[in-house]
Amino acid sequence: MKKIQMVDLKGQYAAIKETVDTTIQEIIDNASFVNGPKVHEFQKNLEDYLGVKHVIPCANGTDALQIAMMGLGLEQGDEVITADFTFAATVEVIALLKLTPVLVDVNPDDFNIDIEALKKAITPKTKAIVPVHLFGQCANMEAIMEIAKEHNLYVIEDNAQGIGATYTYSDGKKAKSGTIGHVASTSFFPSKNLGCYGDGGAIFTNDDDLAHIIRGIVNHGMYKRYHHDVVGVNSRLDSIQAAVLNAKLPLLDSYNKARREAARKYNEAFKGVQKITIPKTINGCEGVCDTCDCHVFHQYTLKVKNVDRDALAKHLNDNGIPCGVYYPIPLHAQKAYKDARYNEADFTITNQLVKEVISLPMHTELDDQQINFITKTVKEFIANN
Ligand SMILES: *Cc1c(COP(=O)(O)O)cnc(C)c1O
Repeated sequence: MKKIQMVDLKGQYAAIKETVDTTIQEIIDNASFVNGPKVHEFQKNLEDYLGVKHVIPCANGTDALQIAMMGLGLEQGDEVITADFTFAATVEVIALLKLTPVLVDVNPDDFNIDIEALKKAITPKTKAIVPVHLFGQCANMEAIMEIAKEHNLYVIEDNAQGIGATYTYSDGKKAKSGTIGHVASTSFFPSKNLGCYGDGGAIFTNDDDLAHIIRGIVNHGMYKRYHHDVVGVNSRLDSIQAAVLNAKLPLLDSYNKARREAARKYNEAFKGVQKITIPKTINGCEGVCDTCDCHVFHQYTLKVKNVDRDALAKHLNDNGIPCGVYYPIPLHAQKAYKDARYNEADFTITNQLVKEVISLPMHTELDDQQINFITKTVKEFIANN
């Protein structure tokens, strides 16, 4: 059996090696490293793929979130609501901009922001909501957009884990994740579903004015050369990363399909195992469907009950199976983001999830032998403990 990796980027590279190597060599030969034609080409390709009017490439997913918030003109003291159960980047940029993060609990089944908790957190100071499409499945965007409209709030989708996912509205209408809110951010960090070979990110929006503002912000607030109209940042995608992304974007749907296929096999193996809850797919699809991109499984995350989760993780590691706990500490309990206004009783789900979740290897190169070994090892541990 091949050594099991949490994320296997070498296998993916083998299939696109020729294109990637040739294009990178061209970029070196032409010395067009920054803002070269490859970046523009990728921007157009991603706009077409997503069906969104504007993609603005930038240096990473954290910058993308920050720049989106800067573009919306959010100001010190404005409250921005996001999920307590996510990667810290989401809340970090809110705090960095001196906005006030307001963390709320998530759903126990799909791990995404809890709509009732979100409603309860709205105050006259609330200016924006940041739903995170955690682990590759969209948050309840229909409800979020309704709430945003009612209260006149901006919606910034953190799509770092959801690229390629499709959201289905209650009337059957579909949209790509990251094209529903006023603006969205994504990350091309190597381990993301669409990853480059370094850092990268992008902002998406259908709003022409906002896109114009953001294009200036990523480039030192310049709209005309050496005229700085606003305080901006330096956040660029380089040509080499864009070349890798151009090679991978046409394969994104097949990558996501391979992830769903692995998830389906995991689900089948764990079905009916007491103490294990398999990830729930919502958005109108039951189980893991093969026909749509409702869930792109950035992570395949189980919940275990009445099992020592950390002992299970250690057992897997001891058997050569990498695994991860995303995330072990709720954001509201992190030293940097503690706030006297928070009440533990408002975070019962996140407080529980951080003890129960475990993410198994998930990538495009998992084979049956590896999946069988992983599921057998998990089930044996559960049966004996
Ligand atoms: C990865 C990630 C980010 C940050 O992306 P970087 O490119 O690493 O800066 C932001 N939000 C979420 C939910 C992520 O998973």
